[in-house]
Amino acid sequence: AKDEGKNSFHFFNDQMLIDISKALELESELQTALDNDQFCLFLQPKYCLESGVLDGFEALVRWRHPEKGLIMPNHFIPQMEQGEMIFQLGRWVISHGLNIIRGLERSGLGQFKLAVNLSARQFCDDKLVDHLSACLQDMPGDRLELEITENVLIHNSELAASVMKQANDLGVTVALDDFGTGYSSLSYLRQLPVDVIKLDRSFIAPTNESEESRHIVTSVIDLAHKLNKYVVAEGVETQEHLLFLKEHNCDSAQGFLLSRPIDEHELPDVLAKGDVQ
Ligand code: C2E
Ligand code: CA
Ligand code: CA
Ligand code: CA
Repeated sequence: AKDEGKNSFHFFNDQMLIDISKALELESELQTALDNDQFCLFLQPKYCLESGVLDGFEALVRWRHPEKGLIMPNHFIPQMEQGEMIFQLGRWVISHGLNIIRGLERSGLGQFKLAVNLSARQFCDDKLVDHLSACLQDMPGDRLELEITENVLIHNSELAASVMKQANDLGVTVALDDFGTGYSSLSYLRQLPVDVIKLDRSFIAPTNESEESRHIVTSVIDLAHKLNKYVVAEGVETQEHLLFLKEHNCDSAQGFLLSRPIDEHELPDVLAKGDVQ
């Protein structure tokens, strides 16, 4: 007690130790989850606005925890992105997602495109491109779309551009996700082989009340079309959103109004019954 005060600058306090041990526990639970196949996919339909036809799905990962039940991606993706676990998860999402698409086709339920989310970190996965080409052996490459966010380019833009180019050579398309929420969206449109722009739901939600939001949405749609790109609106929750987007020639839409993400195990039944069409 004599020396207290002299050397009382502690780098670690109890709370920090608790946080660290929790993070380590989560880390080992996540590795177990990967090894024991505890992840599953929910697929959210996307519809062509002109024809109303269901043209594809976005794959959204969930963790079916043996005790805690279904856990949403924001509770485990950030942790997995810290290390290399995201590589393994990401490759699983691609192969498993395409297996689902293949199964639907074999059952005569339709031909669909699959979009998967790719974290910035996954561009450092040196097995990614080989994995893509292996998964697409018996399928046209354009059945797969990679959804990437703008932060992909902040750290390793050369690597990311080269991976995207190789994916593009396989026929795989690229969508710029959460468009408008990042830093320099417009320059990325020139630098990268982007086929699709996904309008972030934070722009769609206020279109009823705010004239500014309406201008932003219509301008992004016009810009995208001038650059020969396709536009998808996410977070379509109301009939007003849908009508507005249709009226302004947005190409495709996704959101709770049209369909919630569907558990992969229920998908064949839902499609067979025509509950989503
Ligand atoms: P995101 O790519 O922006 O995905 C869309 C999120 O919005 C999904 O949440 C979806 O359930 C939700 N959503 C869809 N329609 C609506 C709507 O009409 N209204 C509202 N309020 N929300 C809607 P989810 O599944 O919790 O995913 C959250 C984020 O987790 C995703 O955001 C994506 O960044 C990430 N994520 C999901 N799956 C994967 C994956 O396999 N790999 C990676 N790296 N990230 C993933
Ligand atoms: Ca997405
Ligand atoms: Ca998004
Ligand atoms: Ca978003």
